[in-house]
Amino acid sequence: MAAPHRGSDVFETRLLIDGQWQAGVRGERIPVLNPFDGSQLCEIEAATEEDVDLAVAAAERAAPAWAARAAHERGLLLLRLADRIEQEREALARLEALDTGHPIRDCLNLDVPRTVLCFRYFGGMADKLEGSVVPVDAGFLNYVDREPIGVVGTIVPWNFPLMFTSWKLGPALAAGNTVVMKPSEITPLSTLRLGQLMQEVGFPPGVINIVPGYGHSVGQRIAEHPGIGKVAFTGSTATGRKIVEASKGNLKKVQLELGGKGPNIVFADANLAAAVGGAAFAIFHNQGQACIAGSRLILHEDIADAFLEKFLALARSIVLGDPLDPATEMGPLTSRLHQERVLSFVEIAKAEGGQVLTGGKRPAGDHLAKGCFLEPTVVLAKPSDRVAQEEVFGPFVTVLKFRTDEEALEIANGTDYGLGAGLWTQDITRAHRLAKRLHAGMVWINCYKRVHPASPFGGVGQSGYGREMGFEAMREYTVPKSVWVNVEAVIPPFYKR
Ligand code: NDP
Repeated sequence: MAAPHRGSDVFETRLLIDGQWQAGVRGERIPVLNPFDGSQLCEIEAATEEDVDLAVAAAERAAPAWAARAAHERGLLLLRLADRIEQEREALARLEALDTGHPIRDCLNLDVPRTVLCFRYFGGMADKLEGSVVPVDAGFLNYVDREPIGVVGTIVPWNFPLMFTSWKLGPALAAGNTVVMKPSEITPLSTLRLGQLMQEVGFPPGVINIVPGYGHSVGQRIAEHPGIGKVAFTGSTATGRKIVEASKGNLKKVQLELGGKGPNIVFADANLAAAVGGAAFAIFHNQGQACIAGSRLILHEDIADAFLEKFLALARSIVLGDPLDPATEMGPLTSRLHQERVLSFVEIAKAEGGQVLTGGKRPAGDHLAKGCFLEPTVVLAKPSDRVAQEEVFGPFVTVLKFRTDEEALEIANGTDYGLGAGLWTQDITRAHRLAKRLHAGMVWINCYKRVHPASPFGGVGQSGYGREMGFEAMREYTVPKSVWVNVEAVIPPFYKR
């Protein structure tokens, strides 16, 4: 291909199955587009259901030896992978920027370093997950071992392809599972490159298999495949439901990291400068295409005007441009279809009486004309409006106002989602009191969207279940086995002769 990637001579666009790069069984191909100008970056080979079957068979063959390998050896490979990614930081960042539209400065400072940190964390974790000894009846020893599940299927979306790949591969592999991974066909390139790097550092054939393809075929087959013991999914709540449905044939374990409608509450006593900057990062970073985006800005009436004056000025000053330009602060949305979906919410907001305070349209300027851009958009609405309830997934923030703490909580907890939530206040007791009552898997106090591989990540309600990161993730990718030992040769009373 005309490589969009400067890090290697040969850039793979095929499937990785059993350590071999190969075309899909049906020989289909999918074009990969640059969201900045609509140009075609390359074509990739498309996997179909038959390829998933081959990949699962390879992962099943590789599973016993991988699980039996000393945990520190599995960890060492992940650590080597982290080093290799770091060496290739610039090329990988460029690839991610081209494929997703993320500004290169974010790819260099967030996506790639967070991917490295994640693989390092789980590389170090591989030999730290301990079982337990349980106090049971006299004369018996009961210990609980944690065993890998076997073959894990992972389905990753297009918003943070490289980083989300590491969030799933890190714990799955450290725990001793083998993996069949489907990246989004919209943004498969960094995952394919990662596959090459994994081969380079010595992951054995079949331990990681990559099958880019469509959700309705490849994703669906992963979800229903009888050889897969667990599926880990990040994406929309609607698709999450389909996965649960498809998984029931073999009762596989399902982990779902779904959407959000993050409330970001600013109290009257907040440090306004910090809150304005934090709220902008919460919604405009990655063009708002983040499950944990702070997409509902809930402002105390006393400071709403002062806050909005600063916030709107900041939103209007954000530099939109070519993702490869280091000066660009916001790139295009990742696909044309998604741009149209996000724009449709502007009309939905207006139809319900919402007021567009800034943005709400494609930006002017010839240099942006071909890209999937949207101006940073701020809309004043009511808590019951669709734009205050549904995930827009773009640089689109809905402003709501409150008077009392109770009212703020009611608005914040007033959606079906429960992923991340933020609050800005100088009052430490209020901060902890409300953190406890927010319906969310993660709460940020005087900050937003902080993530770290050691801290559990996931949601409640329609935002899904299961946790990524930390020891929680290692538990998600293992099953407990309880072993009973009759240490004092006790003869049980039943059927005693
Ligand atoms: P989806 O949930 O449809 O896509 C996420 C992943 O799931 C993709 O790899 C997709 O493949 C795959 N998929 C689709 N259908 C199935 C299926 N039946 N079985 C298994 N896998 C499947 O999200 P969309 O891309 O359609 O985005 C729509 C909305 O979802 C966004 O606007 C946003 O609100 C939300 N979203 C949330 C994300 C998050 O981080 N929580 C991430 C992405 C989206 P394919 O690309 O071929 O459809």
